Amino acid sequence: MAKIVIIGGSFGGLTAAFELKRHLGKKADVTVVCDTDRFIFIPSLPWVSMGWRKAKDITLSLREILLLKDINLITEAAAGVDADSSKVVTKTQEIPYDYLVVATGPHLCFEEVPGFSREKGFIECIFTLEQAERAHQAWNRFLEDPGNVVVGSVQGVSCFGPPYEYAFEIDAELRRRKIRHKVPISFVTSEPYIGHFGVGGLGKSKRIMEDEFAERDIKVFVNQAVEEFTPEDVRLKDGTKLPFKLGMFAPAMKGVPAVAHLGNPRGFIPVDKNYRHTRYKNIFAVGVAVAIAPPEPTPVPTGVPKTGYMTVKMAKTSSVSIVSDITGGVPPEGIPIDVLCLMDMGNTAAYMKAKPVLPPRQESELKSGIVYKWMKIGFEKYFLWKMRRGLSGLP
Ligand SMILES: Cc1cc2nc3c(=O)[nH]c(=O)nc-3n(C[C@H](O)[C@H](O)[C@H](O)COP(=O)(O)OP(=O)(O)OC[C@H]3O[C@@H](n4cnc5c(N)ncnc54)[C@H](O)[C@@H]3O)c2cc1C
Repeated sequence: MAKIVIIGGSFGGLTAAFELKRHLGKKADVTVVCDTDRFIFIPSLPWVSMGWRKAKDITLSLREILLLKDINLITEAAAGVDADSSKVVTKTQEIPYDYLVVATGPHLCFEEVPGFSREKGFIECIFTLEQAERAHQAWNRFLEDPGNVVVGSVQGVSCFGPPYEYAFEIDAELRRRKIRHKVPISFVTSEPYIGHFGVGGLGKSKRIMEDEFAERDIKVFVNQAVEEFTPEDVRLKDGTKLPFKLGMFAPAMKGVPAVAHLGNPRGFIPVDKNYRHTRYKNIFAVGVAVAIAPPEPTPVPTGVPKTGYMTVKMAKTSSVSIVSDITGGVPPEGIPIDVLCLMDMGNTAAYMKAKPVLPPRQESELKSGIVYKWMKIGFEKYFLWKMRRGLSGLP
């Protein structure tokens, strides 16, 4: 029986675990090693920060859902991987594997910008459940005494969607409360233009997003790096100071320390077209943990986003590859990855498609409309329903 260990229990890890068990059944002993017992539907975190969702609405118990499919769970952080002897190391044990899937997501690099640290807490972030809940408290305080809002992405960011969503949601909610005229909103980004998204734009993204920011009266600062966050303002490297009462920024990302030694200088793991490590043939990596080179250099560094949709696709491809190794079947073709994404815009939403993710592309488009908002809400419910039952084989 092949021993397969997966580090991480989110989009990548959970999908890989279900897919491997689905294909291999009793031929594999599948174990998930995760530092938490919870699956959180991360795309809904901006809604938590707005008070539109509670933690319980978007959380599943990993233990319960993995148990259903006869998958083991070790609720402990991986401290390291000994790739030469094929072992995952935690504080209390060594876990041997025949195949390893790394799905550890990001280390959020608050330490790279002075004043961004969680301890000081001048600036909110919405990338984890705890951060989104804290941001919701800050939002409630802000509503009692509104003022300037600054939203943005620091240098090196790859996950650009959440600040866009947050800026649009705040704008929509302030209008709904009829107090938008009391709140100047600034949007700061390391992207060379609005709608670049770290992928060189897609379809009419530049035109549509620029119009959207103009119509909503949100002041935009592109090509920006943040020098420092202080309790009163955001200081940009070009000398601009943007005062704020409420600030929310996306951080840059690295690979998590436990697996960084398997990766490039930022700790992201180099893989082939089937998500197999380029050096260690029994190690696979999926999702945010994977190294993807940017499509073009940008004046201020930016990275390529690895979305939930891309992560699930990577997990499925890597699983088929492991299954073919074990059963002697045909390995997957390794088709370049594409992306579908729904971005909330408060009172509406945008649908984005890029095939493949990076240019040149066969297809690329961005459209907005209320129907995409309904689709986004529907997708959240559908994905949680699917994962609760371990039905990873569904689209
Ligand atoms: C606010 C926000 C909104 C987003 N919205 C969208 C969206 O609308 N659509 C979309 O497609 N994508 C969206 N994304 C991106 C999407 O969330 C990611 O693509 C997805 O979460 C990546 O999955 P992953 O499994 O690679 O990593 P993660 O989801 O980050 O999961 C990593 C897992 O590894 C575990 N872990 C980490 N370190 C260790 C360790 N040392 N030992 C054991 N376990 C460990 C973590 O606990 C977690 O379970 C959004 C991201 C954010 C932050």
